[in-house]
Parts: sequence; structure tokens; C-alpha cells
Amino acid sequence: MIPVVALVGRPNVGKSTLFNRLTRTRDALVADFPGLTRDRKYGRAFLAGYEFIVVDTGGIDGSEEGIETKMAEQSLAAIEEADVVLFMTDARAGMTAADLAIAQHLRSRDKVTFVVANKVDGIDADSACGEFWSLGLGEVYQMAAAQGRGVTNMIDYALTPYAEAMGIVRQLDEEGEQVEREYTEEEAEAEQERLQNLPIKLAIIGKPNVGKSTLINRILGEERVVVYDEPGTTRDSIYIPMSREGREYILIDTAGVRRRSKVNEVIEKFSVIKTLKAVEDANVVLLVIDAREGIAEQDLGLLGFTLNAGRALVIAINKWDGIDQKVKDRVKSELDRRLGFIDFARIHFISALHGTGVGHLYESIEEAYDSATRRVSTSMLTRVMQMSQDDHQPPLVNGRRVKLKYAHAGGYNPPIVVIHGNQVKKLPDSYKRYMMNYFRRSLKVVGTPIQLRFHEGA
Ligand code: GDP
Ligand code: GDP
Repeated sequence: MIPVVALVGRPNVGKSTLFNRLTRTRDALVADFPGLTRDRKYGRAFLAGYEFIVVDTGGIDGSEEGIETKMAEQSLAAIEEADVVLFMTDARAGMTAADLAIAQHLRSRDKVTFVVANKVDGIDADSACGEFWSLGLGEVYQMAAAQGRGVTNMIDYALTPYAEAMGIVRQLDEEGEQVEREYTEEEAEAEQERLQNLPIKLAIIGKPNVGKSTLINRILGEERVVVYDEPGTTRDSIYIPMSREGREYILIDTAGVRRRSKVNEVIEKFSVIKTLKAVEDANVVLLVIDAREGIAEQDLGLLGFTLNAGRALVIAINKWDGIDQKVKDRVKSELDRRLGFIDFARIHFISALHGTGVGHLYESIEEAYDSATRRVSTSMLTRVMQMSQDDHQPPLVNGRRVKLKYAHAGGYNPPIVVIHGNQVKKLPDSYKRYMMNYFRRSLKVVGTPIQLRFHEGA
């Protein structure tokens, strides 16, 4: 399971600076979606060989009254759900009463916590950081988030013990770069066969009250439920195996519908972290949106996370019953305006309450999964790459034409296309986007993002 790292600290210590640095993805094509990156508090990060979810807990200011009253409820929940807490302080400002109050809270929660003294650039770091030892949370790590100094080391220190305990393997090559899986033809075939024989893990996500529980009940009412597990803790999603027309599924229920044991019968609170973990663990995400509410920032946030995670995606606009044509038109134009950029995902208009349109969801879910796991040979990928190059020449870089040589599959779910050639890393994003769309059209890839990776030379 993917680790969750929470950034905690009083305002102005550099949490959002660190957050932005951690979540800036390598893949500009994926990150560069309009309207998704502003003020985002949850992100995916890859650093020091680890993939993790990072949460900027924001507005914690333990200065005056009890810290409990001062902390936003969401911040507290994020700390509870985190696996590792980075407690950030400001080495220039020195230790404050707020720092002490936050430290006391963290000690009482018995959370794995690392104290970070930020902004050590241009000061005598060792003497400035000494006082933070008295927070009683162990070693103090020096960092300058704005410059990126100490950030990788910090993540390394913080995540390695957790990863070792959880059996998470660090993905680094000898040079410390992220390992990119590159399949040989035989490996690709084996991987594809493996994925095609596994149940489809389908996460049903959406903000509160969009109709997730209603939809899951409808699905489970109609289909044969094999068995389901009792969850480990209330923070986890519930995994429900089911089969439909010979195809095996595992529903990842983020709404907690099937939590039936008496002791656990508490009202489920919506949890962003639970949802993000479900996305990470899924093959296909079904994002449920409430037609009556329109498309909210939170919907876009969940969508952005899903795309960054490379998951296959189907969108259900729910509560399509009993609304008049004017509202329907408004929703559709809003979809065009705000979701036009994810033109690869199928959109269904459904009523979970009445069951209208629910059956057709499976077609798109299976189509998305099949697209995400379909094997394409090196020769086919190279041919499509060549065609895209013939139709529209790559630009000149430093007076030389970028030359694409060959392409092969680098992974599935999402499909990764690795392109080899000269000066390929210098291709402008517009050309990469053109190629991505070319691959999508030529290979009829529906319902999943495609990732392109570029390798210099043969
Ligand atoms: P937050 O309120 O904890 O999210 O803090 P911000 O990330 O907004 O940072 C507050 C201020 O500190 C901003 O002006 C940042 O530019 C600055 N800052 C953040 N990190 C560093 C650092 O490593 N060195 C210095 N000198 N300033 C920093
Ligand atoms: P969740 O929080 O996403 O699990 O949402 P619920 O499934 O609990 O639904 C929230 C409310 O929306 C409930 O009152 C449902 O009856 C209602 N609801 C769910 N689906 C539909 C639908 O398709 N049409 C209408 N009109 N109401 C719905």
C-alpha cells in the first residue's frame, strides 16, 4: 500500500513550498491539466525511489488556546490517517509556542514524526537548529525547501524505515533514477496475460452524497456477490469481489456501504486519503459526479489525482432522473467546458436510484481496462510512431531535427510507450501531446491515459 506523508506545522514555515516541490511530477503532460493544480492539498509524489501521497495539512496554529480547537478538523484527520508525519519548523524564526503545542499533540498521538527545520539557507544551520531538539521528537533534519536542499534526504530518512516494515521496494537504479520498467516482447506478453486474468479492481469514488452507496447497492443487488471481507480498520476501503457475465471484479467501496458488523456501524465520514489510496490500488476508477451539484473543485481534484496516477477512468454523472432539460443542458455544457480536456474517458448519465444506465457502465469499464492492458508489439508501436513523424515532422532543436527511431511498450495500466531517438528529451510539450493523441487514435485507446517516455539514443 502507498504511504501517506502529512506535512504539519504552523503557518509560514514552508509547508506549501515543500508540497509543491514534492508533487511537481516528472510528467509534464500529465500534470499540465487546467484548473487542477491550484491550492491542491493532496498530491502524489515520487522521490528517493518511493511513491507516496503527500498531504499539506494547512491551517494548523497551536498558538493560543488548546491545539485541538485550533486545528482544523481536516488537519487532525489527515494526521490520524498519515503513516509518517513531517513536522516542519522555521529555523530562521526559531522555536515558538505554537511549535511546542503542535509537538505535544503529535507526541500524544504516538505518530511516527520527523522534525524538519526549514529555511536553513544562508544561516548557521547547526546552531539555529539546536533548540528544536527540545521538542522531544528526536533528531532535527535540516532543509531548505525553497532551494530543494535536503528534501530527498529527508524523504529517504522518513520513508525508509516505514517502507522496510511494510515490504515496499524502493525503485531506484544505480544512478538513483526512478526505474522504468521496460518489457521485452516476452515479458510484455506475460504481463498482459497476467493482467487479463486478474479481477478488475474498480474503485468507486466521488465526493460525499453524490450517490456512491446507492450505486454500489444497486450493483450488488443485481449481481452475485461472492464474498466480502471485513475491513481492517475504519480508515480502509472495503473490497468486494463479484462476478458479472464471466468477468471477475473487485469493487473498492470507498463509501463503506458493506460495513455491517455492529461495532463498526458508525456513520462513515468521507475521507480524501481513503479515496486516494483506493485510486492508487485500482485498475479502473469510476468517478461519480452529482448532476444537481454540477462539477465542483473537489471533483476536479479527484480527477486530477486519478489521471496523475495513470488509472483508467469512467465518469458517471448521477441523479440524471427528475431534472429538467435546462439543467441537463447546463450540466453538459459545463462538462464540455471543464472536462473537455479528458476527451478519452467515457461519460455516462445514470440514475443509481432507479438503475437507469447502470448496466452500460460495465461496457465502458471493461473497454477502459482492456485498453489499459492491451499489448501492442514493438513493430506496431514503431510503425505508429513513424506515421506520426511522417504526418508532422518534429521540430528543429539547436538547428538539428529531432529524430525518433523506435518505440516499444514500457508497461501497462497505464500503457507506457517508450520512444528512443536523438534529442528526444528536447521535444516540446506540444509535440509530445500531438504524439500522444496520434497513438491514442491509431491504437483506439479509450478510457485510459497513455504515458510517453523518451530515451536518448538507441
Ligand atoms: P506554509 O504557510 O507553511 O505553507 O509556508 P509557505 O510554503 O507558504 O512558505 C512561507 C514563506 O517562506 C514563503 O515566502 C516561502 O517562499 C518561504 N520559504 C519556504 N521555504 C523556504 C526556504 O527553504 N528558505 C527560505 N529562505 N524561505 C523559504
Ligand atoms: P454517497 O455519500 O456518495 O454514498 O451518496 P448516497 O448513495 O448516500 O446518496 C446521497 C443521497 O442522494 C441519498 O439521499 C440518495 O438517495 C440520493 N441519490 C443517490 N443516487 C441518486 C439518484 O440517482 N437520483 C436521485 N434523485 N437521488 C439519488
